[in-house]
Amino acid sequence: MEVYGAPVIGEHGHWLGVVIVMHDITELKQLEQVRKDFVANVSHELRTPITSIKGFSETLIDGAYKDEDTLLSFLDIMYKESNRLQMLVQDLLELSKIEREGFKIDIIPTSLNAIVRSSIEMAKMPIEQKHMTLKVTDDEEVIVLGDANRLIQVAVNLIVNAVTYSLDYKTVHINVTKHNDYGVMEVIDEGIGIQKAEIPRVFERFYRVDRARSRNSGGTGLGLAIVKHLVEAHHGKIIVKSQEGEGTTIRILIPLAKEQ
Ligand code: ADP
Repeated sequence: MEVYGAPVIGEHGHWLGVVIVMHDITELKQLEQVRKDFVANVSHELRTPITSIKGFSETLIDGAYKDEDTLLSFLDIMYKESNRLQMLVQDLLELSKIEREGFKIDIIPTSLNAIVRSSIEMAKMPIEQKHMTLKVTDDEEVIVLGDANRLIQVAVNLIVNAVTYSLDYKTVHINVTKHNDYGVMEVIDEGIGIQKAEIPRVFERFYRVDRARSRNSGGTGLGLAIVKHLVEAHHGKIIVKSQEGEGTTIRILIPLAKEQ
């Protein structure tokens, strides 16, 4: 709280009272703190792969390149770290674009069933790598008001997370249904789950429940922040249910196109 006080003096120089202005700056302070945290997080996330690439390349230049096995394994690490940098920069640019005022999506009647089918195709590689099974239930055609490419982005993020935070050979279910005025897409995994207290925080930029585990899994920590903005841009809703050690269900609701 910022407080300013000033005396009010009458025409003949006598004291009439005091004007006090109180300005609640809690929100401003919080915003400033969020901005500072964000800059600190970005710097940290960028510095980690850069330090690694620099260290390994220096060691190679100093002579380690002469051993072929070392050369290959260091190059492999440097390649993976540069991939991480590229993904991070892409997600940062994406987030800043989405968060900018005036960001618009092209909302037209779009099939949620088709969106799920395209998303599965795009998430094929991690699914196959972990030998996971995907079960889709979408018996009725659900047409929502949405931007197909943006909704695919949302679905791919959720499917990749469901795969990332599950053990190999598990199953992920995707259901497409209607509920009141909304088309619903549900991604259900049998993975590690999220503690109740952590659930609201997973949509924060760079928030990870288990920092080391999430970083090693290759994510940028920005996926769900991007998902949240995109769903809000569709006037939709996100509901997360999770049980630690049992799995997570993320339900996305997008307004239905009329006449269904
Ligand atoms: P990341 O790139 O780290 O996956 P996200 O923004 O996509 O970042 O998710 C934020 C955090 O939420 C993750 O680091 C993870 O701790 C948690 N999380 C997201 N999806 C799931 C899930 N399906 N099961 C368990 N934890 C999850």
